[in-house]
Amino acid sequence: MNNTPSILVIYTGGTIGMIQNSKTGALKPFNFDNIYEHIPVLKNLHYKINFYTFDSLIDSSNMHPEFWIRLAEIIENNYESYDGFVVLHGSDTMAYTASALSFMLENLNKPVILTGSQLPLGVIRTDGRENFINSIEIAAASKDSTALIPEVAIYFENRLFRGNRTSKLNAENFNAFFSGNFPALAEVGVHVKYNYNYIRKPNFKKLIVHKKLDYNVAILKLFPGISENTVQAVLNTKGLKAIILETFGSGNAPTNKWFIKQLEQAIKKGITIINVTQCKKGTVEIGKYETSVDLGRIGVIGGYDITTESAITKLMYLLGDGYDNLTIIKLLQTSLRGEITI
Ligand code: ASP
Repeated sequence: MNNTPSILVIYTGGTIGMIQNSKTGALKPFNFDNIYEHIPVLKNLHYKINFYTFDSLIDSSNMHPEFWIRLAEIIENNYESYDGFVVLHGSDTMAYTASALSFMLENLNKPVILTGSQLPLGVIRTDGRENFINSIEIAAASKDSTALIPEVAIYFENRLFRGNRTSKLNAENFNAFFSGNFPALAEVGVHVKYNYNYIRKPNFKKLIVHKKLDYNVAILKLFPGISENTVQAVLNTKGLKAIILETFGSGNAPTNKWFIKQLEQAIKKGITIINVTQCKKGTVEIGKYETSVDLGRIGVIGGYDITTESAITKLMYLLGDGYDNLTIIKLLQTSLRGEITI
């Protein structure tokens, strides 16, 4: 790293990049070429900040694995030229994108900070301004030429979280994100307080970008009264390779014979099933209650404290890389990017 930090801001869409037309009041995408007019204080940072804007800006509800591949490629192509990356992204699926990137970018030794806002940058009360400026500062922060945050993270409303530990929890408040099973990597007040004990350590190895994602995956969320037809329909989805079983509490599920039999048949067909709790905090412990003993017996894999966002993208990455079933089972129970607590 040289003395002037260089940051690439990648703008994908979402609320943050909107500005209000002063006459009509309608929101339209912001032109980042004029960013210094809107946030003059950015100049005071004395960083080299460049922008990459996607041709078609999307609401993040239209996010797709193909888009993640393009995003990873942009980071790869610019990796040596910048000290850090800030990805401006809609908040709705930000936790999925952050999780996906964490798996796709192996040996990441530079910050990739995703941020967005609940109110557009061009609106007076916007939270986007603070989110944007703080993300840039964090992406530029280094000590002894080493990035302070060598990982994919989400910055929102004064807190920096590990990307693959995060979920969107609030559709309205500025503090929209939550990381129930892992502490914040940094808290921003008068000072930026880094939580060094929890930040991943750089390994100084060469970046490897995994660009194959296989999305023949599904999520089966349990609820009291779920019918055999529903379970059967999901498990018999054409081409399905893996499934997240969203269970109750510490990984519990109904003990009905038909239910266990359906899952057992799917596993025998080669479908990987991972048990992820519906709770936002806490971990799956197969066998703790009688209601999870059968799941363990038939080969459902315990997902520990992984989020659904992280589990689904981890599966896409592992299947995309073409690992065999046994290796996938092993890697699902291994922390690859700090996504689970074993
Ligand atoms: N619907 C928007 C999006 O996710 C919300 C936001 O930007 O926060 O793109």
